[in-house]
Amino acid sequence: MTRELDRFRAEHPRSQALAEQARRSLLGGVPMHWMVRWPGGFPVFAAEAEGARFRDVDGHDYVDFCLGDTGAMTGHAPEPALRAIAAQAPRGITLMLPSEDALWVGEEMARRFGLPYWQFALTATDANRFAIRIARAVTGRPKVLVFNWCYHGTVDETFATLAPDGGVVAREGTVGPSVPAADTTRVVEFNDVEALERELAHGDVACVLAEPALTNIGIVLPEPGYHAALREATRRTGTLLIIDETHTICTGPGGYTAAHGLEPDILTIGKPLAAGVPAAAYGFSEAVAEQANAAIEEQLADIGGIGGTLAANVLSLAAMRATLAEILTDDAFARMIALGERFEAGVRQVIESHALDWHVTRLGCRVEYLFHAEPARTGAQAAAAGDEALDRFIHLYALNRGILLTPFHNMALMSPATHVADVDRHTEMLDAAARELTAA
Ligand code: PMP
Repeated sequence: MTRELDRFRAEHPRSQALAEQARRSLLGGVPMHWMVRWPGGFPVFAAEAEGARFRDVDGHDYVDFCLGDTGAMTGHAPEPALRAIAAQAPRGITLMLPSEDALWVGEEMARRFGLPYWQFALTATDANRFAIRIARAVTGRPKVLVFNWCYHGTVDETFATLAPDGGVVAREGTVGPSVPAADTTRVVEFNDVEALERELAHGDVACVLAEPALTNIGIVLPEPGYHAALREATRRTGTLLIIDETHTICTGPGGYTAAHGLEPDILTIGKPLAAGVPAAAYGFSEAVAEQANAAIEEQLADIGGIGGTLAANVLSLAAMRATLAEILTDDAFARMIALGERFEAGVRQVIESHALDWHVTRLGCRVEYLFHAEPARTGAQAAAAGDEALDRFIHLYALNRGILLTPFHNMALMSPATHVADVDRHTEMLDAAARELTAA
């Protein structure tokens, strides 16, 4: 690690100088606080990005498997989105009025995800916040149920974890929790049907907010029958099911929902929807749409807690249309998923040839390796399989060899612009890292 840190510093003088200068104007020396967590002591400053690559201010080129943590799953600056943005921007960016693109996007979202009615927001966080509000309004119930170690953006209700005694507590590190987590939230382990049924039986849960597979604490896949049980239990108890497809869109063009025939009441998605231009969407079933319409008082709609002056701006809708029509297409997913399979096979080969106690998991075009022999079946198991020091080492080792992995875990995403050679470069890097680690 010392050798890799020395190398990083020696090869990134311009990034280091900018990081020092940034301390004078930016809180913590970064424009967004979690950027302090990049390995190396300071973040690499980006100069430009295109496709699955970017260049830093010191002139190094990287293969980008982080892709803005899914925000750039389309690849950076994809041509159809650039064209749409360049065509729309001179004709207006935000108006508080609908454009025709909104209709096209609404119809396409309905076709992909099977829910008939849509609304737009700027971030997946906001889509989740608004979906929760609507769920509370239509059910008249106060609580939200989430899975242990979930992540759904900066949504207050979701910063809750299970304590060892089974109680609900604020997730470690939560900044300024508004109220005690147990007041708003019930938490169960993913794949635990019994706990789910027990918590829903209280009758006070407005909605389950669920990623169809956990993707923010490693990838934790649902066990066979889990989604059927989740849907059955929520329906039986009058609880709405909100499926957050923000990351699991990696499964295919209609996310995990279309690929596995899920039937959510509300679906939320953000990040790559407009090729990186801030945009998110949430869709409703016929029944929820009807109840939501009834619950939102027309005269008070602007102050009801569902908002965003810039939401559904015409620029983001033009970019969404281009992204859905020309970038995240069926063909693109077929190629991305094949690359994901190749990435997974490469990691598996490294694990086997070095007899490592690790495993690799894949969901469509997203792949993750964890430092534990068995795949996790719950968030708690996945959290326990983390290894902070090893994690930082591999991220830095990769960075020094021109590869960017998603921060905070060993996750890689394939874009339509990712090449076979990029995937193989990662396999070679991991093999070299494993050779050094096992020799030590
Ligand atoms: N939902 C999921 C599943 C996410 O992983 C994230 C962010 N990682 C969000 C929602 C929030 O997205 P944003 O930060 O863009 O609002």
